[in-house]
Amino acid sequence: MTPPVNGNTALFLDIDGTLLDLARTPDAVVVPADLLEALSRLHDELRGALAFVSGRSLLAIDRLFAPLRTAAIGCHGAEVRGADGKVRALAPPISDAVRALFADLAQAHPGVLLEDKTYALALHYRLAPEARASITRALENHAGLLVADGISLIAGKAVIDARPAGIDKGVGLRALLARKPFAGRRVLFGGDDTTDMDVFHMLPEIGGSGFSVGKHFPGVDHVFASPRAVRQWLARLADEGVAA
Ligand SMILES: [Mg+2]
Repeated sequence: MTPPVNGNTALFLDIDGTLLDLARTPDAVVVPADLLEALSRLHDELRGALAFVSGRSLLAIDRLFAPLRTAAIGCHGAEVRGADGKVRALAPPISDAVRALFADLAQAHPGVLLEDKTYALALHYRLAPEARASITRALENHAGLLVADGISLIAGKAVIDARPAGIDKGVGLRALLARKPFAGRRVLFGGDDTTDMDVFHMLPEIGGSGFSVGKHFPGVDHVFASPRAVRQWLARLADEGVAA
């Protein structure tokens, strides 16, 4: 059994840990050529109803998948690009004060990488796992600033993300679903981490289905063992074609 896809599917895909193997740093991930090929073909077959849903910025997403450029939800929902290429920000940029706090934390913990995505920030501690407790404490001490500046924190795989309060991947997905070519289609969403739960939770309400990677999440219908298994499924799907 694999997730159901047909010509009326709107395919929403998380990137890191779902399509791509996690790497030591965010820049070190690899997009295999056959994945790019499969995604390009599926994007055409679904008439543009394929979108990435990521904590990465739109800029970073485009760099990874160039020359493919699809609709996309970046920064956990804070930036949304429609299939027509129009970008909308659903939240203001992260404040300078919060940006400075995160820069200080990265500086104080060797091996911790700051990813500044304008509408979101991420501290990656995969190279310095011991830094996690100290960073968490420091962020607790600055809870007042974070609340005042409208920031919520979310912990993922070896990463702590700051994103605008009230914004999540589900919010971004709803914004795309209101528009062509996504409107009226049946959603299929795939993800692997905490931030994907916001989409998994809303699937029953929007009549969609979901798959996860590596472990089961409430609300998913299918679990792939690894990103590699997801890539193999997508390659098969692209080869077989999507029935109208
Ligand atoms: Mg992921």
